[in-house]
Amino acid sequence: MQHFNIAIDGPAGAGKSTIAKAIASRLGFIYVDTGAMYRAMALYFLREGIQASDEARIIAACEKARVTIRYQDGIQKVILNDEDVSGLIRTEEVGDMASITSGYVPVREKLVELQKQLARDADVIMDGRDIASCVLPDAQVKIYLTASVQVRAKRRYDELRARGEGWDLAKIKKDIQERDYRDMHREHSPLIQAEGAVLVDTSDMDIEQVISRIVTIAKERGLVPKAEEEGPDWK
Ligand code: C5P
Repeated sequence: MQHFNIAIDGPAGAGKSTIAKAIASRLGFIYVDTGAMYRAMALYFLREGIQASDEARIIAACEKARVTIRYQDGIQKVILNDEDVSGLIRTEEVGDMASITSGYVPVREKLVELQKQLARDADVIMDGRDIASCVLPDAQVKIYLTASVQVRAKRRYDELRARGEGWDLAKIKKDIQERDYRDMHREHSPLIQAEGAVLVDTSDMDIEQVISRIVTIAKERGLVPKAEEEGPDWK
């Protein structure tokens, strides 16, 4: 049986994971957060004390870092060599390391294989940077989710403040711009709006508007909702 796949790509802070998680629970899909996999690999490199620029050591370490995914009550858990690291990968340090080391081919090859496998086995909504262009080029729905840098920085700022972390908005904006630049200009699998991907700019949209726009596109592309999983506001 062919599974229905939804690919969501976009720059840092566009709201991909919030949107993808909500759509997954509404449609009864599995949500695959590929950024978390790159972060788990980055955590391994950091723990080994490897510099992001040390390509040879990163490549050698790839062999020893086993990243897998487990689902607990529908929530994705990222497992690094049998340890659940889901709670350890959301720091700026890990994010920066992931943003640099995701440019190395052996890191990508390893994770892309796992991502393809997950999509073969289930209806998934997967978010990342190269999902439509590389991981799931045959996905029925491809979305390029973005927002202005200012809006993305402000959302990130509010999120960090809610967690009790004080950050400077200008610094967050600069970090986001640097990550965007690295993701869009790297040699392998750069972030692009893939052919056939629908551009959704969320700068002036609320979460519900974005969700219903993507669900509508999915229905237009042949998604038949399973009655028992319809949300209360399914139209
Ligand atoms: O989305 P998130 O910020 O968690 O991703 C961390 C980093 O992993 C990104 O900055 C990006 O460089 C990398 N990444 C990637 N390809 C993906 C997902 C994430 O290169 N499919």
